[in-house]
Amino acid sequence: MAEFKVIAKLLKLKGMKVTGVSFHRERVVRIGVKPFKNGCRCPECGRRGTIVRQRPEPRLWRDVPVGGWKVFLCFTPREIRCATHGRIEENIPWAESGARVTLRYEYLMLRYCQRMTQKAAAELLGVSASTLSEQLHRSIERRRSSHRLRGLRMLGIDEVSYCKRHKYATLVYDLERAVVVWIGRGRGRETIDSFFENRLSSGQRARVQAACCDMSEAYMGAIREHCPNAKLVLDRFHVVKAINDAVDEVRKEQWRQADVSQRKALKGLRWLLYRHSSTRSRRETRTLQALERGNRRIYRAWRLKDELEQLWHYQAPWAARKFLKRWTTAALRSRLEPMRKLARTLRRYQDGILAFVSTRLTNAVSEGINRIVKIVKNRASGFRDLPPFADLIYLTVGDVDIPAQISSRFRTL
Ligand SMILES: [Zn+2]
Repeated sequence: MAEFKVIAKLLKLKGMKVTGVSFHRERVVRIGVKPFKNGCRCPECGRRGTIVRQRPEPRLWRDVPVGGWKVFLCFTPREIRCATHGRIEENIPWAESGARVTLRYEYLMLRYCQRMTQKAAAELLGVSASTLSEQLHRSIERRRSSHRLRGLRMLGIDEVSYCKRHKYATLVYDLERAVVVWIGRGRGRETIDSFFENRLSSGQRARVQAACCDMSEAYMGAIREHCPNAKLVLDRFHVVKAINDAVDEVRKEQWRQADVSQRKALKGLRWLLYRHSSTRSRRETRTLQALERGNRRIYRAWRLKDELEQLWHYQAPWAARKFLKRWTTAALRSRLEPMRKLARTLRRYQDGILAFVSTRLTNAVSEGINRIVKIVKNRASGFRDLPPFADLIYLTVGDVDIPAQISSRFRTL
C-alpha cells in the first residue's frame, strides 16, 4: 500500500517493510514492520535458514519518538534452522538480539546521556528516568561485555566518591590513552586486587611499565604485588595536596589559639596559603611576607611548602634525592607537628616520589578525566548506587567509544 511506503520513508524505516499502523492511548503508535529482504536470516552467520516455528506473540521495540508520539515497532520473529547454528531466532536488522529498543533509539539515548542530564534525556525520549537508566545500563553492559583490555603500559589508580554519605569507588586509568578502563566499588585492597586478578592476564600485568597512585597502602601494595616490572610513581598532585593540608593544619591550630585581634590578621589566609607561587599576585606575596612578623609558625610552614615546589623541577634523580633529604631534615626540625608528620611520610615514600623525576608520570591526565567525572556526578546531583554512575563514566570517559559501536546506518541525531 502506498501510504505505508510514505510512512516508511517519513520515519526513515530503512530496510523494513511497513505492514500496518495503529494508534493507541497515551499517544502510542505501533508500526507493524518486517525485514525488507525476504528474511529469516541467521543472526550469527547471516545465511538464510528455514522457518521452524512462528512465535505466538508479537514483540515490540521502542523507537525514536516522533511529533510527541511514542513509536513502537511491532514484529513477530520466527524461529529458524541454520545449517551451522541450529535452531535460532531470525536476525532482526533494526535491534540487537534481545534488546527491547531499536538501534537508532539506542544511539540517540547514548548521545543524549553523554551530553545532558538523564532527566532531560528521558524527557526527550518520552520515557521515565528509571526506564532510561535501565535501558542505558543494559546497552552499556552489552557493548562492553565483549571488550578486552589491550596495551596497558602506564596505569593510574585513584579514588572517587559518588555519594553524599562518602561511598568510594576506585578508578583505573590508561594514562597513555587518557581513558578509564575499570571502575570498582570501594577503595581498599580487595577492590584493586580484583582488577588485577580478574581483568589482566599475568602477561598483561608483567607488561605494565609504570603505575601512578596516591599514598594509599592498598594501591601501592597491589601494584608491588601484581606488577613486578612496574615503576611505582606517587602522584605529584596528591603529594602537593598532602603538603597543602599540612600547612592548613598549622593555620587551623594557630586560629584556635588566637584571640579576637590576632584572628583578624589570620583572616583570608586559607586559600592564599594553598596558592602556587606561579599564580600569586605581588600583593599576595607581600601579605605572606607580612606573616613573618604576624605569625611565625604559619609563615614557617608556608615557607617550607614554597621551597618544596622546587622538587618537581629537578631533572637528575640524585639531585632531587639530595634536595628532598635536605628539605625533610628542615621540616623535621621545624617544631611544627603537621609538617614533621608529613616529612616522615615523604621519607617513607621517597622512592615513589622521586620516581616522578625520572618518569615525569603523573595522574594529570586523570585530573582531566576526574573533572568530567565530577560534571557527570553533579549533573545527576549524586548517585545512590555505583552502577548508574559507572555507566556514565564508561560512556563519557571510558576506553570504548560506545556510540561508535552502532552501525552508522542507525546514527541519527
Ligand atoms: Zn548460522
